[in-house]
Amino acid sequence: MSRRRQIYEGKAKILYEGPEPGTLIQYFKDDATAFNAQKKGTISGKGVLNNRISEHVFTLLGTIGVPTHFIRRLNMREQLIRQVEIIPIEVVVRNVAAGSLSKRLGIEEGTQLPRTIIEYYYKDDALGDPLIADEHIACFGWASQEEMNDIADMAVRVNDFLCGLFAAIGIRLVDFKLEFGRIWENDYARVILADEISPDGCRLWDMQTNEKLDKDRFRRDLGGEAEAYQEVARRLGLLPEGENSVLDLDQHRQKRGK
Ligand code: UDP
Repeated sequence: MSRRRQIYEGKAKILYEGPEPGTLIQYFKDDATAFNAQKKGTISGKGVLNNRISEHVFTLLGTIGVPTHFIRRLNMREQLIRQVEIIPIEVVVRNVAAGSLSKRLGIEEGTQLPRTIIEYYYKDDALGDPLIADEHIACFGWASQEEMNDIADMAVRVNDFLCGLFAAIGIRLVDFKLEFGRIWENDYARVILADEISPDGCRLWDMQTNEKLDKDRFRRDLGGEAEAYQEVARRLGLLPEGENSVLDLDQHRQKRGK
């Protein structure tokens, strides 16, 4: 791993050069951050779980025709992805009021929204990822109008699909964040879904109890983060019933310094 060229290190993931041109290896860390990295910690086994959950979700999205950067999972913490030119916009889709929407507009958390909202944030840590309007995207040339149409269409499709996927396992999809990137084919650029879909970037509430099964457990010091991520993976059928063998193996390897 150390012999590979590192392209980028983010808060929760590292990108390495891939085996072929146009590919990268995405490594999932256990590190967790919140509030624009003012709060830092680790969630044991998170990287393994997010790798599996994101693989599962991106694979399913591929089968319904949503283009993604995912190629295949390589091992417990790594997946092979297509290299994209990241569009510097975080796309947030909301079905239920929570988080910054509740705070900004004074709407009680848990209020079902009468219609799904798509919001855009400018990806810039120094500025704290500010909320932006469509006008800003066009004005500053972060994406073309055509690309924004494709992004909005894909975000709606992903939301419809994920709402059903999670509802089937007793989970309410409150909100989530997506990132998109461009790939160039000859002189033509196409937008595809990038980054990851995991409990790090989604709000997932148990439908019966409203228990939070996502990164809010870390943000709000609720405890039980690792168990919550495991529960999501378990309900998606990604962990063998009644055991955490994948995580045990990972811990064993980490202790041996692998
Ligand atoms: N989100 C994210 N990364 C960010 C900001 C938000 O993954 O940098 C996700 C977050 O997990 C939630 C949704 O986007 O599922 C909406 O987040 P919100 O705007 O409410 O911000 P927060 O209260 O989480 O800071």
